[in-house]
Amino acid sequence: MERRQKKVSRIAVLTSGGDAPGMNACVRAVVRTAINEGLSIFGIQGGYEGLVEGDIIPMSMRSVSNIIQRGGTILKTSRCETFYHKVGRKRAYDVLREWNIDGLIVIGGDGSFRGAHALCEEYRINIIGVPATIDNDIYGTDLTIGYDTAVNTALDLIDKIRDTAESHSRLFIVEVMGREAGFIALAVGICGGAEEILVPERRMSYEQLYEAIKVWSKAGKTSSLIVVAEGDELGNANQIAARLKKDYNIDCRVCILGHTQRGGSPTATDRLLASRLGYHAVLGLIEGKSDVMVGWVNNQIVFTPLEETWEKKKPLDEELLQIYKTLSR
Ligand code: ADP
Repeated sequence: MERRQKKVSRIAVLTSGGDAPGMNACVRAVVRTAINEGLSIFGIQGGYEGLVEGDIIPMSMRSVSNIIQRGGTILKTSRCETFYHKVGRKRAYDVLREWNIDGLIVIGGDGSFRGAHALCEEYRINIIGVPATIDNDIYGTDLTIGYDTAVNTALDLIDKIRDTAESHSRLFIVEVMGREAGFIALAVGICGGAEEILVPERRMSYEQLYEAIKVWSKAGKTSSLIVVAEGDELGNANQIAARLKKDYNIDCRVCILGHTQRGGSPTATDRLLASRLGYHAVLGLIEGKSDVMVGWVNNQIVFTPLEETWEKKKPLDEELLQIYKTLSR
């Protein structure tokens, strides 16, 4: 049987924006799928910065050996100022032409997708985005690469904090990542048995928080945990602690998990997701898809126009919010 005609023959892959565990597993999947499909595959080092500078290397089966379990990204990543401007993207396109590259896979977050979309609009180049960010705040996929690992890392730390909170009968405020989204906070809060979860998607006043704290104390809880997403409107963990002390004379300890949540070996869930999305990104390019993101929705591969991935908002799971309210009392 005759094989379908391939719409690309020389493709490249880059990782861009904030790093996320599982990016390496995805690079590996892209490289090996491409080679298996008879394509030439190149790695662009340092995200869009490397693209603009022409920092490109040929990839082989062996260049991605022994990386599926490693956090970070072997291709490195960057924030690239020049790529925000037409002149920078022109340079990027010239580099791609020079190398005869006709397809590009961008592994990153919504900022990286905005850049990819701009390049697609301006030049004839096929691009597929793969969602990788610990925040999980991208529309068009139930999960982003790195989210599950970040949740598990944060949870591990929260379990440890709970031990000390319990021993000293203390109130702890733990700040997790998620600037504009509460996905990490909600998952970690439920799994860590938090008494309260503060997320940007749900408004809560200081009075309400104080009332909630009074209720737990009366209910006989000997330790309590508040999990707060870094972008919550009440403020960051330190500000909340200072306000609780000043207005209500409540003592609490603060723990900011910070960048520990970005690192570490990806979980099995992230490796599976990264392998699956990387594989389908290459097949998508071969079929001629472009200006889309490959995602995982209701246990299926779905391609979503890049623009929708940041224009549409992925909601928090309302039922999970309800479940946590019921279980935390
Ligand atoms: P992330 O992909 O994790 O959201 P950033 O928002 O930092 O990370 O975006 C990564 C890079 O993508 C930026 O440094 C820039 O080079 C490029 N980029 C982001 N937004 C745009 C945009 N609106 N137009 C062109 N390029 C962009």
